[in-house]
Amino acid sequence: AADDGPESPWLSAFIRRVRDAIDDLTALDQQAGDGDFGANMKAALGHFDLPVRGSDADVLRAISTSFLVRAGGTSGAVFGVLFRQLATAFSTFDDVAGALRDGTAAALAEIQDLGGAEVGDNTMVDALAPASDALTEGKSLPEVADDAEAGAESTCHTTASKGRASYVGENARGVVDPGALVTGWLYRAAAEQSP
Ligand code: ADP
Ligand code: MG
Ligand code: MG
Repeated sequence: AADDGPESPWLSAFIRRVRDAIDDLTALDQQAGDGDFGANMKAALGHFDLPVRGSDADVLRAISTSFLVRAGGTSGAVFGVLFRQLATAFSTFDDVAGALRDGTAAALAEIQDLGGAEVGDNTMVDALAPASDALTEGKSLPEVADDAEAGAESTCHTTASKGRASYVGENARGVVDPGALVTGWLYRAAAEQSP
């Protein structure tokens, strides 16, 4: 179970960072979407006792289940898939870089299959795809996080054609996509806190 065993510093750091930013994430989705993104993150991540304990695979699976069961919105499904694919990869690979590489590639494929978002559509795919490319190229985890964050930042310059943010059209320009932002934070946490 995810409630015993060693601490998972990077996943604890990720959960804490998202929880500390709920109001900011809500504000971003209010400017460029329907305003429920922060509430969905709180529903998925608000109940974990920190630091989270357990193997990375177990904690990732618990986070996935939480997104799928507790969170609504597109983010519940999309992040549920991301964390489920990461959990599977972490239960297969011994090294963090290999697990992140395979899990991220599998998640990207499934999320694009599910929701049809391409790079430039102003979604979390804009952070996930560059993270996947960087991992495949064998870049260091800090470089992977840099690329994911740069991809998230690029959503400032686009408008959404997918998800509820597409309903506000031009209003999304100048606003970072909150899903992309949070995705960048996951890779930053891995770069800073993983063993
Ligand atoms: P909703 O769109 O139902 O209000 P949320 O606010 O919970 O859902 O989540 C919005 C986030 O979901 C966006 O910030 C974006 O990153 C992500 N998203 C939206 N549509 C897609 C899609 N087709 N593929 C991947 N991610 C998406
Ligand atoms: Mg929303
Ligand atoms: Mg919604």
